[in-house]
Amino acid sequence: MDRMDLEIDLRHAMERRELVLYYQPKIHIETGRLAGFEALLRWNHPRLGLVPPLRFIPIAEEAGLIIPIGAWALDTAARQFAAWRAMAPGRPLDISVNLSVKQFFDRDLVEQVGRLVKELELPAGTFGLEVTETVLIGEMQKAADVLRRLHAAGAGLLIDDFGTGYSSLNYLASLPFDSLKIDRTFIARLEQDESCTEVVRAVISLARNLKLDVVAEGVETEAQLECLRRLECPHVQGYYYSKPVDAKLATEMLQRPA
Ligand code: C2E
Ligand code: CA
Ligand code: CA
Repeated sequence: MDRMDLEIDLRHAMERRELVLYYQPKIHIETGRLAGFEALLRWNHPRLGLVPPLRFIPIAEEAGLIIPIGAWALDTAARQFAAWRAMAPGRPLDISVNLSVKQFFDRDLVEQVGRLVKELELPAGTFGLEVTETVLIGEMQKAADVLRRLHAAGAGLLIDDFGTGYSSLNYLASLPFDSLKIDRTFIARLEQDESCTEVVRAVISLARNLKLDVVAEGVETEAQLECLRRLECPHVQGYYYSKPVDAKLATEMLQRPA
């Protein structure tokens, strides 16, 4: 199917309820406990099956559909998260949702996030927003302003794909980020490559000094996990523990004993 057809179908995907969120667990290495989830979009296309986000998000961005789709994802993830919190009161748990650059600079974002946090009574920082370093390129002052307002509205702020983008470290200390996610390309090379281990070690220690949480992404093997344990990386995510799963399976995971 070509791009035009996909775009036409995408325009109807929301009203036809074809979009779904999957959830990938985030694990606390030291205790092995489920600490939270990352929400990841999927499109359940009637003929193509489950379409991955890298296929349709760029189309959504160009077609001006990313704002309503992104708003739907924020709303759905927040409500699912509130339901999980009600199921297991008192249990430490968080969730994060990915934002595209366009969504990040949309004037209604802060208000929507603030409204969800308030209405669903989500504790400050537990409803996380993942942004890549690319939001900081160019309009740094504007980005800093949005980040501060999101933080004030009670959102958690995570830097996604850390290490692949803009390399200035200045912003790390001055902006209200809570967590950084080390890109999986670094994790994939952990075992073979000693210099990579040093890079990951340096990122973890930088984060620790700046009081940022760290999530290593794309952990697939026991060896990578052991390496990250030695480096005292707080959290991991990846196929080693679980692929992204639908809401039903994520709920079952939450109900399992630790
Ligand atoms: P991302 O935010 O870096 O998400 C992580 C991607 O890595 C996910 O792909 C996930 O399924 C995959 N992954 C997780 N563990 C492993 C592993 O151990 N090995 C490997 N090889 N891959 C792993 P997915 O779900 O296809 O998402 C791709 C990208 O699409 C995301 O990258 C994110 O940038 C974007 N995306 C997903 N959902 C949303 C959304 O709701 N809004 C926006 N704006 N972007 C989204
Ligand atoms: Ca992400
Ligand atoms: Ca990532």
